[in-house]
Amino acid sequence: MASPSDRAPLAERVEQLLAVDGPLTIVAAGDPVLRRGTEPYDGQLGPELLARFIEALRVTMHAAPGVGLAAPQVGVPLRIAVIEDPAPVPEEVAVARGRVPQPFRVLVNPAYEPVGTTRAAFFEGCLSVPGWQAVVARHAEVRLRGQDEHGGAVDELFTGWPARIVQHETDHLDGMLYLDRAELRSLSSTEEMARRWTEPTPKAAAEELGFELP
Ligand code: ZN
Repeated sequence: MASPSDRAPLAERVEQLLAVDGPLTIVAAGDPVLRRGTEPYDGQLGPELLARFIEALRVTMHAAPGVGLAAPQVGVPLRIAVIEDPAPVPEEVAVARGRVPQPFRVLVNPAYEPVGTTRAAFFEGCLSVPGWQAVVARHAEVRLRGQDEHGGAVDELFTGWPARIVQHETDHLDGMLYLDRAELRSLSSTEEMARRWTEPTPKAAAEELGFELP
């Protein structure tokens, strides 16, 4: 539990970030803020500043565009992330990847645990690692616990692509990047992704690049 004087710098940093209109700057891999982990949110920003910060995360995620954004990605080491995925993909891709629309959500102090042992492997990318994608085998279903932006308890099951998104964003809050869990032989530039690996599953990529799928 931090004293009020300990809390001032974080709130001040967020105020400074929000002084500029428009999307926030997304920090890239190599910035230690992505590796240090985060402090649990327990009111450090106050309700009004928290609401403005969440709106800035939403605007930044949309502008990128991305389907999730964690506070450390804008340089703020707090355990907060936002997710939203309209899932604008062809039907066969949606079916293969379980990519169903995910409405806008705020994850405060999220933590996940696997449900069952099934894993799903697909290419994913990260706004903090621009220009690259890699295959990550993740839990197909997770139980996510935490709070919403109003402090209400969250305890929900996520499957399909939304399960991937909440794992990716929660990992950010623990100082992890998707590359830490990725099959590195699958690493592909945006250009090679567009040229070669647009199929709904990474099966062909696994055969041609030489890696295993779960
Ligand atoms: Zn990311």
